[in-house]
Amino acid sequence: MDAKTIRDVDVSGKRVFLRADLNVPLDDGRITDDTRIRASLPTIVNLLERGATVVLASHLGRPKGKVNDALRLRPVADRLSQLLGRQVRMTGDALGPGVKVALDKLRPGDLLLLENLRFHAAEEANDPDFAASLAGLADLYVNDAFGAAHRAHASTEGITHHLPAVAGLLMEREVDALSRLLKRPARPFHAVIGGAKVSGKLEVLTALLSRCQAVLVGGGMANTFLAAKGHELGTSLVEEDQIGNARRMLSEARRKRVRLMLPSDAVVAPQIHQRASTRTVSISSVPKDQMVVDIGPETLAAYTEHLARARTIFWNGPMGVFEMPQMAGGTNGMARFLAKRFRAGVVTVVGGGDSVAALEQLGLAARMTHVSTGGGASLEFLEGKSLPGVTALLRADAAIDVTGEKA
Ligand code: ADP
Ligand code: MG
Repeated sequence: MDAKTIRDVDVSGKRVFLRADLNVPLDDGRITDDTRIRASLPTIVNLLERGATVVLASHLGRPKGKVNDALRLRPVADRLSQLLGRQVRMTGDALGPGVKVALDKLRPGDLLLLENLRFHAAEEANDPDFAASLAGLADLYVNDAFGAAHRAHASTEGITHHLPAVAGLLMEREVDALSRLLKRPARPFHAVIGGAKVSGKLEVLTALLSRCQAVLVGGGMANTFLAAKGHELGTSLVEEDQIGNARRMLSEARRKRVRLMLPSDAVVAPQIHQRASTRTVSISSVPKDQMVVDIGPETLAAYTEHLARARTIFWNGPMGVFEMPQMAGGTNGMARFLAKRFRAGVVTVVGGGDSVAALEQLGLAARMTHVSTGGGASLEFLEGKSLPGVTALLRADAAIDVTGEKA
């Protein structure tokens, strides 16, 4: 990436404020997926081994500026301790006298995890005083939180006005991998897009129509496109208010000569339930009392056949309700197909929290060119938007190096 990274600076003996994205899904205090913690390890270990004192900070969930015991970072500290093989100490607050006391005890090679940044409303408000106080904890700022880079918050943007700022290794990997999709990707470049709704992904869909030669639609969002073409879809999730947008995108695809593929068959069920029985029907004969819960085998075959020509594939959004095994065929089939294409030399990039969870479930996350830890951030990046957290690292005053000289 164009910004400096931790490799470009001397960190020995320095206090480093490391903003990571340790925002992991929790179920009753238990971490259900530790991908983001593991993805943050290379930078943490690199800094510690090079003799830095690391002040590690992250947000967790949406506490909305108030202390919320269910969103404390304690489970993250515990998991991090296991992974690092050493006890990770943490503070009871992201800022305040307790932090100063804990900091003063640290030596080079030590690590301290701050409590959830978002317990302070000032974090999301990008409050300048809060940013300055965070900066006061360290000599150097490292941003490794790609998943939070689409937000201009105190710990992702404001702090860079006070400290020399560089990218961590994960940030670098994410930006480099996603940039490859924006800058002359090997063609044909095809996108597979699914997930629940059109509404959250309008902009990325529009962007992909300008960049790709084919866009293959699955998941709940395909229903809205199918409805726009006049299909009756029983009790399926259809966003009535997005039918107009879907229609517009269908005609935009025609105008741009981009192949926009929709399912020809579907797996249907009476409801979304662990024990719901499913069957496969043609898309033109979805029973009135059933809903579409996955793409059907004929669709999967048509999609993979078309994708076999692609040299670059981006995938976001599951093809169905992959959380239920009987509704996961499309998603799992797509994941296995992409892993095979990767082995054949195709660039395969996957983004989106649930799509990545599906890959993890199958143990296929390592069998892709790149699996992004950033859901919203990866989509905004592909839309061509500049991410505040990344821009902040590229700004000239953020590039003052640790010796105080201008880069
Ligand atoms: P990602 O996090 O990968 O971007 P989304 O959050 O957009 O994906 O969508 C994921 C959700 O979409 C999953 O919880 C999945 O169950 C749901 N989903 C997929 N297909 C359908 C469908 N046909 N009907 C209802 N929900 C669906
Ligand atoms: Mg999601």
